[in-house]
Amino acid sequence: MANERRPLIAGNWKMHKTIKESVELVDGIIGSLAKQPVEGVDVLVCPAFTALERVSKRLSGTDIALGGQNCSHLREGARTGEISPLMLLDAGCTFVILGHSERRSYFHETNEMIGAKVKLALECGLRPVLCVGEALEQREQGRTFDVLRTQIEGCLTGLAAEQLAKVTVAYEPIWAIGTGRTATPETAQEAHRFIRGLIASLSMAQVANGTRILYGGSVKPENAASLLAQPDIDGALVGGASLKADAFYAIITSAR
Ligand code: PEP
Repeated sequence: MANERRPLIAGNWKMHKTIKESVELVDGIIGSLAKQPVEGVDVLVCPAFTALERVSKRLSGTDIALGGQNCSHLREGARTGEISPLMLLDAGCTFVILGHSERRSYFHETNEMIGAKVKLALECGLRPVLCVGEALEQREQGRTFDVLRTQIEGCLTGLAAEQLAKVTVAYEPIWAIGTGRTATPETAQEAHRFIRGLIASLSMAQVANGTRILYGGSVKPENAASLLAQPDIDGALVGGASLKADAFYAIITSAR
């Protein structure tokens, strides 16, 4: 029932890269892994929607997984500009990032909306990567754990244990995303341990012990190893550094 806690290194390409550039980037990652394979680490790339199908073709025959960066809470219908989880599956995805702080802040996604997306993604057979994390002001006010509790409970309450076991959580303190400012390994570990406890209280320790909790926020080749060495940090969700094949490959090797 539980996830295996093999480290997972996920690249969130955000709104970057044309189709051609995406293919070049994924070819670079595939090439590095073919030349010097990294055992025991799972790898996920999340390109823009337009590049999914072409990247999916390149990934066939490799162990690298493909994910979307968002999806609708509906299977289909009149929702101009939205994308269904079924469409992501159709394009070759097995994962989907949900509740990224950029979705929460620029597109006003609430925990309730994100929870509905998580539920439907699971029903459709996708594995959600649920992003949570506090803003700087919330941390300075000592509200980090309250924020994490509200986000985790708001997005994951009501899932069956078998569903929860398919969810990956990404702890991404907002003040560390794209800022070059990384949480110290100890600060990140404290939040990860707390999140694992929240998952245990929503379901059972067996599920929580198997849940992969990724750290995200200015992860780079230089800081990845010390973060990934923490007992409750099971991988990384990488933005900026995932846009260069050599930097992303270096982070993958740090997870070994
Ligand atoms: C992200 O947006 O998920 C992220 C972690 O970005 P960066 O690595 O650039 O901080």
